[in-house]
Amino acid sequence: MAEKKTKTKRKTARVKKTRRYGTRYAADGDTLKGTLLGLAIVIAFVAVIAGIIWICGGLGGEGESGSGGSVETPAAVSDVKVHFIDVGNADCALIECADGAILIDAGEYDDFGKIAAYLNERGIERLNYVIATHAHGDHMGAMDDVILKYKVDELIIPTKAVDEKFYNDVISAARSRGVPYRIAAPGETPAFPTGTLEVLDDGSDTSVDESKSEELNNNSYVLKFTYGKTSFLFTGDAERKYELEMLGKGEDLDADVLKVSHHGSNDATCSDFIKAVTPKYAVIPVGRDNSYGHPSKKTVSRLQNAGAKVYRTDEFGDVVVTTDGKKISITYDGAN
Ligand SMILES: [Zn+2]
Repeated sequence: MAEKKTKTKRKTARVKKTRRYGTRYAADGDTLKGTLLGLAIVIAFVAVIAGIIWICGGLGGEGESGSGGSVETPAAVSDVKVHFIDVGNADCALIECADGAILIDAGEYDDFGKIAAYLNERGIERLNYVIATHAHGDHMGAMDDVILKYKVDELIIPTKAVDEKFYNDVISAARSRGVPYRIAAPGETPAFPTGTLEVLDDGSDTSVDESKSEELNNNSYVLKFTYGKTSFLFTGDAERKYELEMLGKGEDLDADVLKVSHHGSNDATCSDFIKAVTPKYAVIPVGRDNSYGHPSKKTVSRLQNAGAKVYRTDEFGDVVVTTDGKKISITYDGAN
């Protein structure tokens, strides 16, 4: 928001300067010729300044705008939008390009209404993939309804299964709709028309005991989406232990946008991990007044101290990152 204000101020200053110059010149002219010449120069000068202002506005590159819901400009054909849908203290991200869409996680059980409204508003009826990063209810809760109500080409399920209702409902929904489902392998790049989505890791080296639900965070798929020179890292709920393992394996974690792990909890997003990612933007999917105390102030500070601009969904609402492969811009609708 601060960036926006600065830009507006700068524009105003330029216009004032132009006006002052024009007035002084016109007053100095004695003859008609001189006045006309002066007028022509003033018009040319104003046109040049207006052009500069327009170029600065149009090519501003990375920037943000917000509040009101109508700030988002329609996606050009070459644009990719990554939506971090505000589903409270749960995860739901949507990668959208002109020819396809991928849903990564699907919030809690009662988030389907929000997710459906979001997809419908964007005219999305088909999802190339629905990916469950790990078997927790705040990531797979509404996934069964998504599969039942939308055309899903393929479902990617976590490597560890759990015998819990939300999980069994997702598998049942896939079976009933004939949606193929499978476990993805690290290194694979599921086919997508624009950009590349890579499964960086599946947490299989963290020795997760699937009978212990609390350990499943470290069984999250870590995914990297790259489009042109821009990249996004989706970390599920990976914790420090898993982050250090990925660092040890020398995985290419560098990304412009980081979907912050585990709702900003202090047990994740450690300093070394942030150093490897070097995110310019960090989006924290987190609920207002949640009982976990997410996000941790320490996590937010670590990100900010590393130079990342932090967007929390409890404060910014739905956060939308648009990229043309070179530049990134961020819009948000404001918290409800
Ligand atoms: Zn979670």
